[in-house]
Amino acid sequence: AHDLVIEIRIVPYTYDEYLLLARDVTQVSRLNQMRKDFIANVSHELKTPLTVIQGYLEMYRDYDMQIPINPKSINSMLEQSERMMSLISQLLVLSRIEANSESLFDQVIDVRKMLAVIESEATQLNTHKNHSIQFVIQPDLMIYGIEDEMRSAMTNLVKNAIHYTQPEGEITVSWSLTEQGNALFKVEDNGLGIAEHHLARLTERFYRVDKARARSSGGTGLGLSIVKHVLQHHHSELMIDSVENKGSSFSFEIPQDLVLLEQPLKQAN
Ligand code: ADP
Repeated sequence: AHDLVIEIRIVPYTYDEYLLLARDVTQVSRLNQMRKDFIANVSHELKTPLTVIQGYLEMYRDYDMQIPINPKSINSMLEQSERMMSLISQLLVLSRIEANSESLFDQVIDVRKMLAVIESEATQLNTHKNHSIQFVIQPDLMIYGIEDEMRSAMTNLVKNAIHYTQPEGEITVSWSLTEQGNALFKVEDNGLGIAEHHLARLTERFYRVDKARARSSGGTGLGLSIVKHVLQHHHSELMIDSVENKGSSFSFEIPQDLVLLEQPLKQAN
């Protein structure tokens, strides 16, 4: 439901004739709008934590340092600066991914090893939540791809499942071969779920279902757009199944031509 944007030009053709040229610039104007929105969003997201920090600092300055420093205010300032830090580092990840033109076939990713690291990070994150988290991994299933990117896509999906599931939830992470020979990564949770009308916009930068909830989880709203870009590079796309208050499943298939079923022979240099 986007309006059509048409650019019209009248140019001389012969001495008494003119040409009317009409060009569909809908796409160009949409991209422009998206760029403007993005800059506005980034500015807003960075300003919010700075406002909090500045507020406390001004309060202390105006009281001439005579009021004792409240540890709560220090914690709050720290929290806000951590927010800015993670926002900036995710923006950098995103722009690096967008600019990346590395070949997919330079690296073989040992996904089993990568998921072992992700599993131990998940265990650390999970200490407050006490979810039961299962990793079900087909060990010899490897893929060609860009390792850093794939790690950040998989990590984002696992972290989201932990964040958006109530304590004592159940999360399953699986890596397996489909009948068609594709590699399937899937993260399932029985958490908060997402109402259907949000699903189509979920991978947009800064799109969040519930701002308050996302903020308290430390989210930046960039995670799923990073996932989307990584998957585009790997000829894949994110599939989301979710039912509000029941749970979600986020998955993607890496196509067969990027799949390897055993360690390739080490090439002699
Ligand atoms: P954030 O940094 O806010 O987590 P993401 O781009 O990773 O940003 O996710 C966008 C939004 O999608 C989140 O704010 C959250 O509302 C929703 N979401 C993502 N993963 C899940 C999940 N597993 N369960 C429920 N909601 C989710």
